[in-house]
Amino acid sequence: MKWKRIVVKVGTSTVCHKNGAPDLRRLEKLCRTLTDLKNMGMEIILVTSGAIGVGTNKMHLEKKPESMAKRQAAASIGQCELMRIYDRFFMDYGCLSGQILLTKGITEDAKGKQNVIATFGALLEMEAIPIVNENDSVATEEIVYGDNDTLSAVVAQFTKADVLILLSDIDGLYDKDPGIDPSAKLISIVKNTKDVLHMASDSNTTLGTGGMITKIHAAEIAGNSGIPTVLANGKDPSILYDIILNEEIPGTLFEV
Ligand code: GLU
Repeated sequence: MKWKRIVVKVGTSTVCHKNGAPDLRRLEKLCRTLTDLKNMGMEIILVTSGAIGVGTNKMHLEKKPESMAKRQAAASIGQCELMRIYDRFFMDYGCLSGQILLTKGITEDAKGKQNVIATFGALLEMEAIPIVNENDSVATEEIVYGDNDTLSAVVAQFTKADVLILLSDIDGLYDKDPGIDPSAKLISIVKNTKDVLHMASDSNTTLGTGGMITKIHAAEIAGNSGIPTVLANGKDPSILYDIILNEEIPGTLFEV
């Protein structure tokens, strides 16, 4: 087995349709694939975005609210819905799952960190899949991760994962912006994150947060703990089989 303990992070663009409604076909496939990988003997931790997106849609808003309180309300409404869907799909395949909502304050507190690590350990021991998100409905502006790329790298560190896989709406890291320049080439292997930082730009979409910069930073955080990161397209979650089981990785591998 190439990797045993695997953190998979899915972004809002993978979890939601453009209007924020949950992409049920994709989520169903994601849960089936993750359960299958677990049944093969791997330990899976899922970091999921989408709470604000799903909540925004449920509140009949066109884009995520500007005000902090309303955004937190959207996260509160969306997180319930998201977990209901995950729990149901995982249960369909006979897989236990459990929710872990983290804040920066908890992860940076020595005792809090210890507790979180113990909870991850207990869930994995029970062969459950921990489903992680930032606790957006209580996180305050000053102490917030804000993007789940960074959070997923911290989770990979805490759980001593063998790999961090970031699934997004782009095939990997390109040498130029492929949206602007059609000659842009996908970079398959990155040896040093410092060499590629200049190729990235940030984004703050209508529903999600984070862009290529937060992904490269996440790869840097994971890499500092000896954990490689893979960046790949999550539109078809069965790409996880290719990433994990094949020699050649579809996407970008940040080596350590
Ligand atoms: N925690 C946010 C949510 O669930 C997503 C943050 C991000 O887009 O990285 O909506």
